Amino acid sequence: MLVKAMSGSDYNLFWNETVRQLMADGNLSEQEHDMWFRNMKFLKGNNESITLAVPSKFYKDQVKQRYLDMLINQLFNLTGSSLNINFEVVDSKPPVEEKRTENKTGKKISEIVSSSSESVRKPHRQLRRDYDFEGFVIGNNNSFAASAAQAIGANPGGAYNPFLIYGGVGLGKTHLMQSIGNFIHYSVTDKKVVYITAETFINEFIHSIKSETQSQFKNKYRKVDVLLIDDIHDLQNKKETQEELFHTFNALYDAKKQLVFTCDRPPSELKNFTDRLKSRFERGLNVDLQPPNFETRYAILRKKLETISITIPDEVLELIARNITTNIRDLEASLTKMVAYADLVGKKITVEIAQQQLKGAFTSTLTANITIDRVQRVVAEYFNVTPADLKGKKRTKQVTFPRQVAMFIIREITDYSTTEIGLEFGGRDHTTVMHSCTRIEDRMKGDPTLEPTVGELIRSVKESR
Ligand code: ADP
Ligand code: MG
Repeated sequence: MLVKAMSGSDYNLFWNETVRQLMADGNLSEQEHDMWFRNMKFLKGNNESITLAVPSKFYKDQVKQRYLDMLINQLFNLTGSSLNINFEVVDSKPPVEEKRTENKTGKKISEIVSSSSESVRKPHRQLRRDYDFEGFVIGNNNSFAASAAQAIGANPGGAYNPFLIYGGVGLGKTHLMQSIGNFIHYSVTDKKVVYITAETFINEFIHSIKSETQSQFKNKYRKVDVLLIDDIHDLQNKKETQEELFHTFNALYDAKKQLVFTCDRPPSELKNFTDRLKSRFERGLNVDLQPPNFETRYAILRKKLETISITIPDEVLELIARNITTNIRDLEASLTKMVAYADLVGKKITVEIAQQQLKGAFTSTLTANITIDRVQRVVAEYFNVTPADLKGKKRTKQVTFPRQVAMFIIREITDYSTTEIGLEFGGRDHTTVMHSCTRIEDRMKGDPTLEPTVGELIRSVKESR
């Protein structure tokens, strides 16, 4: 058979030719190639299979699902032999500092992707090393955001631009954003990635005015390939910095540089924000991160434990995952507390110990972090209206009743004042909120079905977190 006489490197040629033909025949677009094949490297081949390096499990799964059959067929056409294709996930983190000089042969993606040794990069100064795709657990709450982030990592400036991740505190916005940065930093070695919080951006901007170094400031941010700005809600009320960012945005966007932002709410809900900057944020892809469900919370705890040498029994992880429902930061805090405790007292952590130690955390999360927005969404969905209806001016029975129920629930389970609630319901007066709550209380007395309905809604609000 033809293939038997081949040496390992011939398979590399076969592989390259396979991809080339698929592209030439229009079965693989340039964009798909950039997204899925550029970061894939031939590792080895023999008369049975070809092995390729891919940067993550996500990549592997996606490529298999999308292209495996096509690739095997094309390889068969070319070689006359049915070869299997294997994918090997190769660590995308570069080797640690000391090893890097000695060990240039290790199978690190940063080395495989580029053959020149000088391209092995030092860790990025502004990015946390552990905020990478491998450490980001994909679950019900974030899978779309994570896929989009991976696509951007593979094709900066070409996939979704700008990319904006929004969601409540502790849900993984910064982690995901920095994962994009780290991925590009290590895999596309000539790209300049800059990460900054909006707060620092504001401070640097103000400083540049005071010290008359505005042109340096402008240059710094307009000469990057990937600009990551975290927590842009902090720019609310900062008209001048918004203006500056608007121009930076345009310059980078026109040059097809990748822009990524995070925000604690959808951009449309930013207050004291110029419309033209808001509309720029909305131009690309906006995705939200939701609170994780139990399975995902549990998976995240397991993942975090991988890097720690202390063992925590599964029942304890389950207990934490069941009780800490607010966000991942709280979840991690409880795990850290358990790990510290186990370390300190040198004891195995039991469910009883965990229950005792985490009592405070378990109860405080019950009502914490429920936002007005979330209650509005749950209630609106239940009554088949939209959150905008609840906030709007309409006074038909179809919307006034759900609106009153939503206000009542917020009063019941959160610490928002009636003034704050009124504001979030289209700027209504606090007396309207008080009146609504009284109305619902009165109706509950006369209508025995209302209380269970409200109870059910409160449960869904809590579970939706
Ligand atoms: P945010 O920026 O939305 O407030 P962070 O990105 O700071 O949240 O995340 C809070 C903590 O939770 C971080 O330590 C982060 O690593 C962790 N985290 C969030 N989402 C995930 C996830 N999907 N998998 C693993 N860890 C996560
Ligand atoms: Mg953050």
